[in-house]
Amino acid sequence: MKRISLKFKLSLWFTLILTIFCVIMLILVMRIYQSADRNLILQTLENATEATVSKIRSDKKYREDIMFGKLADREFLYDDVQIMIYNEKGEHIAGLFLYPELDELKVSSSDEPVLTQLDGRNYYFCDKKTRTVRGNDLYVRGIIAAEKDLIGSMSSHGAILAVLPVLLILAFGGGYFITGRFLKPVRNIRRTAEEIRSGGDLSKRIGTSGNGDELDELAKTINAMFDKLEGDFDAQKQFTSNASHELRTPVSVILAQCEYGFDHADSAEELLQVISSVQEQGYKMSGLIKLLLMFTRIEQGTEHYPKTETDLTALIRSVCEDMRIIAEKDITVTEQLEPVTANVNREMLTLLTVNLIQNALRYGRENGFVKVKLSESEDMAVITVEDNGAGISEEDLPHIWERFYRSDRSRSSKGLGLGLALVKQIAEFHGGLAEAESEEGKGSCFTVRIRKT
Ligand code: ADP
Repeated sequence: MKRISLKFKLSLWFTLILTIFCVIMLILVMRIYQSADRNLILQTLENATEATVSKIRSDKKYREDIMFGKLADREFLYDDVQIMIYNEKGEHIAGLFLYPELDELKVSSSDEPVLTQLDGRNYYFCDKKTRTVRGNDLYVRGIIAAEKDLIGSMSSHGAILAVLPVLLILAFGGGYFITGRFLKPVRNIRRTAEEIRSGGDLSKRIGTSGNGDELDELAKTINAMFDKLEGDFDAQKQFTSNASHELRTPVSVILAQCEYGFDHADSAEELLQVISSVQEQGYKMSGLIKLLLMFTRIEQGTEHYPKTETDLTALIRSVCEDMRIIAEKDITVTEQLEPVTANVNREMLTLLTVNLIQNALRYGRENGFVKVKLSESEDMAVITVEDNGAGISEEDLPHIWERFYRSDRSRSSKGLGLGLALVKQIAEFHGGLAEAESEEGKGSCFTVRIRKT
């Protein structure tokens, strides 16, 4: 089935609603018109019967004509009122003889209009009594239709009925045009999304009108989403390229060492050196691959990292002890740990603490200090690692959490530039965040907050 455009559907709905609205309005107008008519109808009835009564009283010839049935039917028609004349016995003696049922109804002189139904239609009639010169009573009965029928009235307003279809066609045309204009931004959004899909160019953006309406806001939100996607894709590309680069170096070293071993190593001692170098590069690659895998697994959630209720105080104390043993510089590591337990993944929390203390030792100054603190604030556990080492420059500080980011100064050291990125990811995995404050030459303070439950 052919797809009906949104523009067409909206115009159709618009026209339908307008049609219903017009019909309701028309019926309402007719009703109001009818009720206003009622008073007019009763007045006409009163006037016509009263006029007949007066004429009977004052016009002798007329009286005689009535008695002898000489008057034509039209003489008994006043406006829309039909007149019937009855004698005192209630016999129909003159006037229109159209409604035998009406003749059955007893004449009265109450003068009040009465509503009755004849041939399925409503009528008002009223009786007025008068007296002839000879002393005979006569009754004049006037009758008038109680309401104008709606269809008749509507057809009498043929102009409205003729204008209505024209109005609806115009409404449909106008609706179609206006909807088209309103939906233009939607077409833009679709076109841009299509261009991105077919060309893969994530730098394209939807043009915004800036008028702040819902569609403009939608376009802005989609643009912001494209910004985020573009940023993420770029970071992903950068990450892949950095990872390949980091892996290429040890692979090149391994290949070069192997070639040297085959071609030039003459002694067992030289071969052992080659093997040792290959092993060192192998460890480096294995460490890097382990970290890369960890990033991917945390991101994709493919690896299940179970959380258990953990004594953070004991965990951090144990890491501090280990780090003291392997510290290469003469740096004092002190702990100030409040008793805190949290529902965490032990392996991750150990890695996080090791990375922070390792950095503090690596970039710390000889005879300096590293202070490790643990406290809690509301439902968060707070880990702080402070040192009085090299500090981080203002330009580097915003980037230290990026994967493979290393300040120029620290390129000569052993790290890979992944430690802090992992710290941040672990903190986020535990519903928290990682922050750093630092002043170049004075030291740094890293704070990690993680949710306890
Ligand atoms: P790396 O393996 O280079 O240590 P990280 O991700 O752990 O990678 O750290 C990124 C960069 O942040 C480091 O290269 C270093 O420049 C800086 N940095 C991290 N910790 C400290 C610290 N305690 N003192 C000074 N600089 C630091």
